[in-house]
Amino acid sequence: MALPMQLRYNYRIYPDPAERAALARVFGCARVVFNDGLRARQAAQAAGLPYIKDADLQKQVITAAKRTEKRAWLAEVSSVALIQSLNDLHSAYRHFFASATGRRKGPRIAPPRFKSKRDNRQSIRLTANGFSLRDNGRLYIAKIGDLAVRWSRPLPAAPSSVTITKDAAERYWASFVVQTQDRPLPELDTATGIDLGLSHFAVLADGTKISSPRFLRRAERKLKRLQKDLSRKRKGSNNRAKARIKVARAHAVVVDRRRNWHHEESTRIIRDNQAVYVEDLAVKALARTRLAKSVHDAGWSAFVAMLEYKARKNGRTFAKVSRFAPTSQVCSVCGVKDGPKPLRIREWMCAACGSVHDRDVNAARNILALGRRERLNACGGNVRPERVPAAPCETGTHLGDRKHS
Ligand SMILES: [Zn+2]
Repeated sequence: MALPMQLRYNYRIYPDPAERAALARVFGCARVVFNDGLRARQAAQAAGLPYIKDADLQKQVITAAKRTEKRAWLAEVSSVALIQSLNDLHSAYRHFFASATGRRKGPRIAPPRFKSKRDNRQSIRLTANGFSLRDNGRLYIAKIGDLAVRWSRPLPAAPSSVTITKDAAERYWASFVVQTQDRPLPELDTATGIDLGLSHFAVLADGTKISSPRFLRRAERKLKRLQKDLSRKRKGSNNRAKARIKVARAHAVVVDRRRNWHHEESTRIIRDNQAVYVEDLAVKALARTRLAKSVHDAGWSAFVAMLEYKARKNGRTFAKVSRFAPTSQVCSVCGVKDGPKPLRIREWMCAACGSVHDRDVNAARNILALGRRERLNACGGNVRPERVPAAPCETGTHLGDRKHS
């Protein structure tokens, strides 16, 4: 069975000075159109007038605006980018309305806000009629030029859209959306449980312990040092501005490396197991405790989300087991609950059967057993649909699941 999916592929691009200037112009125009549209809708609302329809707003802030002296320069950039920017405003409104009326679940969504020239990230989105891929590997964008791309991996199919972004570290990226038909991997009879521990990043039921690699820890240490440097610089000084860019760059390196590593590990786990069970840590609840920092640093929720969508993509089973199960207290051999174990206890012996357990491996084995049991129960009548990510999105080697707005 092939599942159609939308995947995102990200690549670093290297615009030359002229192209950077052209990009700056189109970023600015897209922002102006977005803000003009927002202002027009807010003014209509304040005057008690009806909500301006999408098509009418486009005529007003793009087509008609280009003919005015004040906005004539909008004609100098790709109209595709301007239309997409306005589409972003339309969907921001739709999400806000859906959230306000309760049609959309989850946290409340705020009304659209004005974009600032000083935003760290700037982007434009182009549909297929606004860009093309050259035979020489360059990315052609109307009224910008042929951009050099570092193709860190091949695109699996023709992209339907691209988002060009300049990030806080002043790097440029092209993020392509590609429709693919995914073929599930051959079926296996293996299953694993994963304990997201504190002494290791993750521990598997077969005893495998995954720790964050040295290159990532090194990047994290460098980031901490630069953050400390920044905090020592005088507010408003030139040195502070320079230090801030250094921090942004180091932060981007940490984020990229961590994501690449999460991709490698999650791909391997999904490839090697037909079923994967993790403890539902409800990271949000945990984030309020003193464990918060290590939880966020380790990026567990991002890692678990990768496992989830890769499982779906490859026809694997993925489930979160109840976080109320005392996975570190129950003996995975005989099933007897041995009593609470403070975090510092890494190894213990079951009083009932004498098995010696590594705390985390035992927890991973219990998660596997719980996952299998819940699955069996589910198949025995009380079948619940598998939870799947709303917008499955594969990220490239460099950028992540960024929301492009
Ligand atoms: Zn036991």
